[in-house]
Amino acid sequence: MDTKLNRTQSEKLFNEAKQLFPGGVNSPVRAFKSVAGAPLFIKKGDGCRITDEDDNEFIDFCCSWGPLLLGHNHDVVRESIIETVKNGTSFGTPTKLGNEIGKLIIDNHSYLDKIRFVSSGTEAVMSAIRLARGYTGKDKIVKFEGCYHGHVDSLLVKAGSGLATFGESTSAGIPASFVKDTLVIPLNDLEKFQSVLDEHHQDIAAVIIEPIPANNGLLIQDLNYLVWLRKICDDYDVLLIFDEVISGFRVGFEGASGLYRIQPDIITFGKIIGGGMPVGAYGGSNEIMSHIAPDGPVYQAGTLSANPVAMAAGIAMLKTILKDGFFEKLKKNTTYFVEQLESFISSRGYDMHIQSVGSIFWFAFTKTRVISSDQIQQDAISKFKILHAELLQNGIYLGPSAYEVGFISAAHTKSDLDEAIVIIQKALDVVYKDS
Ligand SMILES: *Cc1c(COP(=O)(O)O)cnc(C)c1O
Repeated sequence: MDTKLNRTQSEKLFNEAKQLFPGGVNSPVRAFKSVAGAPLFIKKGDGCRITDEDDNEFIDFCCSWGPLLLGHNHDVVRESIIETVKNGTSFGTPTKLGNEIGKLIIDNHSYLDKIRFVSSGTEAVMSAIRLARGYTGKDKIVKFEGCYHGHVDSLLVKAGSGLATFGESTSAGIPASFVKDTLVIPLNDLEKFQSVLDEHHQDIAAVIIEPIPANNGLLIQDLNYLVWLRKICDDYDVLLIFDEVISGFRVGFEGASGLYRIQPDIITFGKIIGGGMPVGAYGGSNEIMSHIAPDGPVYQAGTLSANPVAMAAGIAMLKTILKDGFFEKLKKNTTYFVEQLESFISSRGYDMHIQSVGSIFWFAFTKTRVISSDQIQQDAISKFKILHAELLQNGIYLGPSAYEVGFISAAHTKSDLDEAIVIIQKALDVVYKDS
């Protein structure tokens, strides 16, 4: 594949990194394994643009995998971090900033009485699962094929072969005894869900779902389906956990719960909530949250939890997005971007479309709506690889995998998007030139 892009410094740094970190990275997708070339080492970001160590500049649609809803180096977030850090970095005590962000979230969210801060999305999900088990006194968890919930042992499980509901782990190092308590079912399959709950509800603590699955392509579910899930969980006395690590504060301040008006029992957060700093959280009703230590018997703790510098970044982020019209404008820009590309795609007759919700978008290399992970074909992976290389060459950065979604931030102006649209159109012509 064409590699006109100068990656001399990135290649050098990557070779060095390979001596230091497994695969040269500290999180696997960063290694560019499923796209061409060495990963780019980014040295700075400003607004919607990032610059790598070779001074190549890109319009960034990865946005640190979602957290940067306001774009890079946002002045309010940056100043808030700087002001806070002048007083020290961490105390391991309660702080006023912790109260402030807690209040900001709970006052503006219909489905949260209490939350608990942690330091990552994974930690939030792991804690939510423990809480669900501690609250219900049951062990089994139901998850959906095509949803990602961080690297929690009992959730790195995929559907087993054949009709078996019991899964197999997707990582080495996960005891079979953990896997046996995770039931994996396909998205959008009502019959299967009903039968699993029929058979196992007495042992099931919770069902966990990304209400807007965005880690395996963007597998937007039907509202009816999600409403129905809520109802069945209630009927069988099983908790429903919405993993809103991506969708929280992204499709609206109240995330997918607010967008769909569905009340989950526990919600998990990450990414945007920390304004670009490492933060996660989980929350729910007073009744359920009262089971967390020190109020209740479910133990969960963290040395750097609710770190004041991270809280300050989160407060700046959340205050900004609470302003009138914030989400409307973001959605309007995204709709413009998607519609321009869609009309180009249909004028060319390319066999693809764009799936989008809020400010998230995803290139589906088929005309058919993709709603479950098994619909993503090998051909889409190959096409994405060409698109990715072509876009990098021409100044656009996408997450380096066909399964990753794109994010539009408030820093992407209409003229940035216009610039990107032209580049993407040309890149799609290259992707489809032989078909
Ligand atoms: C990113 C993500 C996680 C994991 O969060 P980390 O901060 O990477 O640990 C969990 N669930 C969902 C839905 C995510 O998108």
